[in-house]
Amino acid sequence: MKFVVTAGPTREPFDPVRFLSNRSSGKMGYALAEAALQAGHEVTLISGPVQIPAPKGAQFVAITTSEELYGATRRAVENCDVLVMCAAVADYKPTRVAGTKPKKKAGTFSLKLTPTRDILATLASGAHDYFVVGFAAETNDVEANARHKLCSKNCDIMVANDVSRNDRGMESDRNEVTIFFREGGSKTIAVAPKKIIARKLLKIILSARENSLTKKTC
Ligand code: C5P
Repeated sequence: MKFVVTAGPTREPFDPVRFLSNRSSGKMGYALAEAALQAGHEVTLISGPVQIPAPKGAQFVAITTSEELYGATRRAVENCDVLVMCAAVADYKPTRVAGTKPKKKAGTFSLKLTPTRDILATLASGAHDYFVVGFAAETNDVEANARHKLCSKNCDIMVANDVSRNDRGMESDRNEVTIFFREGGSKTIAVAPKKIIARKLLKIILSARENSLTKKTC
């Protein structure tokens, strides 16, 4: 089966040397790519800037901005079976990008921001054959927010994690996730190294896809 996995943060520049980004390490997406490769699948891994090497055997595409991520993912999903949208895409980007580095001045400095394109919602809308896995990094009301994103972004399943704790989730080697299905059920994978979570999650993704656990009820 052909997987497209996105991972890591995006960077949204506002001048030649500065950008907006987030704490995503890419570890969860890379672990998923690795798990899919080990299970014998083909993997295209599309990644923002991270500190870990690409898994051997993956087709690797490096991106920086959310628009680059969109372009690369749109091309890659054309003949894939499963899209796993694990990347921590910036929600906003600077409205203007200065061509030269602005000089420091006294007083405050304001940035005007424009929402980025919602890549997941865009690629999950309209006719497509691939199974769509979204991720929701939440600090509060995890279930309500994840269920809302599952439906509003038209995903087949939504994988939620609580990023308010330092011992799991963003940057950590460990994670705990809850997978929400469209028909209303959910499954939690208890706290474990991301490599273990990835193997278990892969099985859940494949079985949800096979058994159509995910009736389109929202
Ligand atoms: O809305 P939120 O950012 O919490 O949604 C998270 C999910 O949506 C993730 O799967 C992420 O990769 C995806 N996303 C996206 N494009 C954006 C923002 C988020 O594809 N601009």
